[in-house]
Amino acid sequence: MNTMTRDEVTAWLAAHSLLRMRRSAVPVELLPLWAEAMSQRESGINDGQAVAKAMAVCFPESRPQRAQSTGCHRCGGTGYLRGLSHIHSGRCFACNYSGERP
Ligand SMILES: [Zn+2]
Repeated sequence: MNTMTRDEVTAWLAAHSLLRMRRSAVPVELLPLWAEAMSQRESGINDGQAVAKAMAVCFPESRPQRAQSTGCHRCGGTGYLRGLSHIHSGRCFACNYSGERP
Protein backbone atom coordinates (compact mmCIF):
# COMPACT_ATOMS: atom_id res chain seq x y z
CA MET A 1 0.00 0.00 0.00
CA ASN A 2 1.52 3.29 -1.07
CA THR A 3 0.95 6.08 1.35
CA MET A 4 2.74 8.67 -0.72
CA THR A 5 1.07 10.01 -3.80
CA ARG A 6 2.82 9.87 -7.13
CA ASP A 7 3.37 13.62 -6.99
CA GLU A 8 4.92 13.38 -3.55
CA VAL A 9 7.23 10.63 -4.71
CA THR A 10 8.19 12.62 -7.78
CA ALA A 11 9.02 15.58 -5.59
CA TRP A 12 10.97 13.37 -3.24
CA LEU A 13 12.92 11.87 -6.14
CA ALA A 14 13.80 15.35 -7.35
CA ALA A 15 15.47 16.03 -4.02
CA HIS A 16 17.11 12.66 -3.45
CA SER A 17 19.26 10.29 -5.45
CA LEU A 18 17.32 7.16 -4.76
CA LEU A 19 19.93 4.76 -6.11
CA ARG A 20 22.76 6.45 -4.25
CA MET A 21 21.07 6.08 -0.89
CA ARG A 22 21.66 3.35 1.57
CA ARG A 23 18.68 1.10 1.93
CA SER A 24 18.30 2.12 5.55
CA ALA A 25 17.99 5.77 4.49
CA VAL A 26 15.13 5.13 2.09
CA PRO A 27 11.66 5.90 3.49
CA VAL A 28 9.90 2.66 4.20
CA GLU A 29 7.10 3.38 1.73
CA LEU A 30 9.68 3.84 -1.00
CA LEU A 31 11.51 0.58 -0.40
CA PRO A 32 9.54 -1.26 -3.09
CA LEU A 33 10.44 1.54 -5.49
CA TRP A 34 14.05 1.41 -4.42
CA ALA A 35 14.16 -2.38 -4.86
CA GLU A 36 12.52 -2.15 -8.25
CA ALA A 37 14.89 0.59 -9.39
CA MET A 38 17.85 -1.44 -8.18
CA SER A 39 16.76 -4.45 -10.19
CA GLN A 40 16.04 -2.27 -13.23
CA ARG A 41 19.52 -0.84 -13.04
CA GLU A 42 20.99 -4.30 -13.38
CA SER A 43 19.86 -4.31 -16.99
CA GLY A 44 22.50 -1.69 -17.74
CA ILE A 45 20.36 1.43 -17.94
CA ASN A 46 21.30 4.59 -16.11
CA ASP A 47 19.95 5.60 -12.75
CA GLY A 48 17.42 8.05 -14.12
CA GLN A 49 15.96 5.46 -16.48
CA ALA A 50 15.94 2.84 -13.75
CA VAL A 51 14.03 5.14 -11.43
CA ALA A 52 11.61 6.09 -14.19
CA LYS A 53 10.92 2.43 -14.93
CA ALA A 54 10.49 1.68 -11.26
CA MET A 55 8.07 4.58 -10.97
CA ALA A 56 6.01 3.14 -13.81
CA VAL A 57 5.84 -0.15 -11.92
CA CYS A 58 5.28 1.09 -8.38
CA PHE A 59 3.47 4.36 -8.99
CA PRO A 60 1.70 3.98 -12.31
CA GLU A 61 0.45 7.16 -13.83
CA SER A 62 -3.07 7.70 -12.68
CA ARG A 63 -5.76 7.87 -15.28
CA PRO A 64 -6.14 11.33 -16.71
CA GLN A 65 -8.36 13.31 -14.45
CA ARG A 66 -11.55 14.62 -15.86
CA ALA A 67 -10.74 17.96 -17.42
CA GLN A 68 -11.43 20.75 -15.04
CA SER A 69 -14.76 22.24 -15.74
CA THR A 70 -14.54 25.51 -17.51
CA GLY A 71 -18.27 25.78 -17.39
CA CYS A 72 -20.49 28.58 -16.27
CA HIS A 73 -20.55 29.00 -12.50
CA ARG A 74 -24.26 29.74 -12.46
CA CYS A 75 -25.57 26.68 -14.21
CA GLY A 76 -22.56 24.39 -13.82
CA GLY A 77 -22.04 24.20 -17.55
CA THR A 78 -25.42 22.87 -18.49
CA GLY A 79 -26.77 26.19 -19.79
CA TYR A 80 -29.94 25.64 -17.81
CA LEU A 81 -30.87 26.35 -14.24
CA ARG A 82 -32.51 23.54 -12.41
CA GLY A 83 -35.68 24.61 -10.72
CA LEU A 84 -36.21 27.59 -12.99
CA SER A 85 -37.80 25.79 -15.87
CA HIS A 86 -40.88 27.95 -15.45
CA ILE A 87 -38.86 31.06 -16.32
CA HIS A 88 -37.56 31.22 -19.87
CA SER A 89 -37.38 27.43 -19.84
CA GLY A 90 -34.68 27.65 -17.15
CA ARG A 91 -32.15 29.14 -19.48
CA CYS A 92 -29.09 30.52 -17.78
CA PHE A 93 -28.49 34.12 -18.63
CA ALA A 94 -25.05 34.28 -17.07
CA CYS A 95 -23.68 32.31 -19.98
CA ASN A 96 -26.50 32.93 -22.44
CA TYR A 97 -27.38 29.24 -21.97
CA SER A 98 -24.23 28.09 -23.68
CA GLY A 99 -22.98 26.53 -20.45
CA GLU A 100 -19.59 28.11 -21.01
CA ARG A 101 -17.90 30.44 -18.63
CA PRO A 102 -18.73 33.98 -19.69
ZN1 LIG B 1 -24.79 29.37 -17.25
